[in-house]
Amino acid sequence: MVFSDGSVTGFGSVAYIRWKLVTGKWWSSLVTSKSKITPKNRITIPRLELNGAVLSKRLKEFLVMKMDTKFSKIYHLVDSSTVLGYLHKSDSKLKPFEGIRVSEVQTSGTFVDGRLQNWYWVEGGLNPADLCTKPRCVSELGVNSLWQKGPAFLEEDFDQWPVKRDFKTGRLVGEILPKAMHTVCLTTDDMSNVFKDLLEKFSQPQKLFRIVAYMLKWRSSHRRQPVVPGALTAADVQNARKFWIRFVQQEVTEEMQKSASSHNKSDTHGRFRRLAPYQDDDDIWRIGLRMREFVPFTEDRKPPAFVPPKNRLTYLLMRQAHQRKHSGVEETVARFRMMGYWTCEAAKLAKVIKRSCVTCRILDQKPLHQVMGGIPQEQLINPVA
Ligand SMILES: [Zn+2]
Repeated sequence: MVFSDGSVTGFGSVAYIRWKLVTGKWWSSLVTSKSKITPKNRITIPRLELNGAVLSKRLKEFLVMKMDTKFSKIYHLVDSSTVLGYLHKSDSKLKPFEGIRVSEVQTSGTFVDGRLQNWYWVEGGLNPADLCTKPRCVSELGVNSLWQKGPAFLEEDFDQWPVKRDFKTGRLVGEILPKAMHTVCLTTDDMSNVFKDLLEKFSQPQKLFRIVAYMLKWRSSHRRQPVVPGALTAADVQNARKFWIRFVQQEVTEEMQKSASSHNKSDTHGRFRRLAPYQDDDDIWRIGLRMREFVPFTEDRKPPAFVPPKNRLTYLLMRQAHQRKHSGVEETVARFRMMGYWTCEAAKLAKVIKRSCVTCRILDQKPLHQVMGGIPQEQLINPVA
């Protein structure tokens, strides 16, 4: 007996074997099962049931091929009469999805009086394949459980089984599952903790930018703001990058304001006064210096944005700069600034990263030199004149 089922989370098939005892009773046991996770594509539940039926047919063929036992009868049991109806239709009248699967089942079975032999419908509550399709507790799968022994009717003669051969002839309609459904539940009041966690969790700045780009896109659509549908654009990622810079600059905002207001004054107190910081149109603190009006060396042609020292993002950005070519400290710092960032004690940070870089250790290994061989004995006995 091969049962099959399908649900929103998965579809699967499970096979049981039974034989008659000397006492005249039937004894049944689980042989094997196979289940698969539901694809992310739009797919209806009846179609998943059909997938389960195909899996059931394949599982039967596998068992027949691999087992030495000769079976007197093999039954397929599904709990969807619509799917059973589809298995009796001509595949040429079906859509490719159903047609391919129905054809596979039909070619493996035999028809008598227009009926596919050995395919039956059973009530959903008596179908053990249901256990393949939903998350279950281990305790439900123990000895003498429905999973191990199969439904109770397996211990009765076939005439007593609560199965039917009637089927519906309707279309495979059902609930359409949304494509790649993801539920994001942000329940914290303080979003800064979420971003701090993200910073700790991910080690690639580009990945952090993309995650926040998706979050910003989702927020825009939620607020009914115009959003370009589809994949992320370069502008989305750029906005997310600016967001991260603003986020990490929060810890130095006060100092930056002091340094900016006191610039060029004799009574300066700001810690970053020598950097002549200023805030641009995106509220990002940038380094002024003499190149304030024209900075051709950064990728965005703007003065570099200040990222606080000893910040995780600063570390990740410097590491990204280093990993482009695994070059030395000076080149790493130059690349870091070309990427559009500036931080205090950048060379010190670059040195730490260089020292801890495994790739650099391998690349910087000195090659082994061969030790010179000894002088041959002949040359010692008969030295060349
Ligand atoms: Zn390196």
